[in-house]
Amino acid sequence: MNDLETVLRQTIRDVPDFPKPGILFKDITPILARPALVRGITEHFAELYRNAGIDAVVGMESRGFLFGVPLALALDAAFVPARKPGKLPYERVSESYALEYGSATLDMHIDAVTPGQRVLVVDDLIATGGTAVATAKLVERLGGKVVACCFVIELCFLDGRAALSPAPVQSLVQY
Ligand code: AMP
Repeated sequence: MNDLETVLRQTIRDVPDFPKPGILFKDITPILARPALVRGITEHFAELYRNAGIDAVVGMESRGFLFGVPLALALDAAFVPARKPGKLPYERVSESYALEYGSATLDMHIDAVTPGQRVLVVDDLIATGGTAVATAKLVERLGGKVVACCFVIELCFLDGRAALSPAPVQSLVQY
């Protein structure tokens, strides 16, 4: 295969005006159609954190699950879903964060991360960083340490990386 970043860039599909006018949506479903790419992404991040003592990988609903589960398996770590309200059945912690219009909330089970655990946060894309910051706060409220945040795609002009500081941010394709 060619350089992973080059092939990913060729594979990600731009969909203008989705889900609303003015948004250029980065569609990752063509990546999922190519197992070699999903494997390549997983191996890229697993290689970075193989010796980092990662206990758990937290993925955000719903595209964070798609990359988080294989990464957790590769690192022999737990997978933890951060979910939209009303989805998790057991006791929860919640964090709300601002969107361009209105707000959003993510939940995690109270026993999903235990004090002292070392955690990677994984999503398909970082834009403003609001989703990842809320997820990192949930991990920290349960006593976990966010070792790093990993994204397939980074929209650099929105500077989500700064919002997550000092947590290190890794991304494969930058725009
Ligand atoms: P943010 O909280 O602003 O960093 O937004 C990141 C979340 O929104 C991720 O879960 C992404 O899947 C989704 N997202 C934001 N902007 C886009 C975009 N242009 N294309 C695809 N997904 C996006």
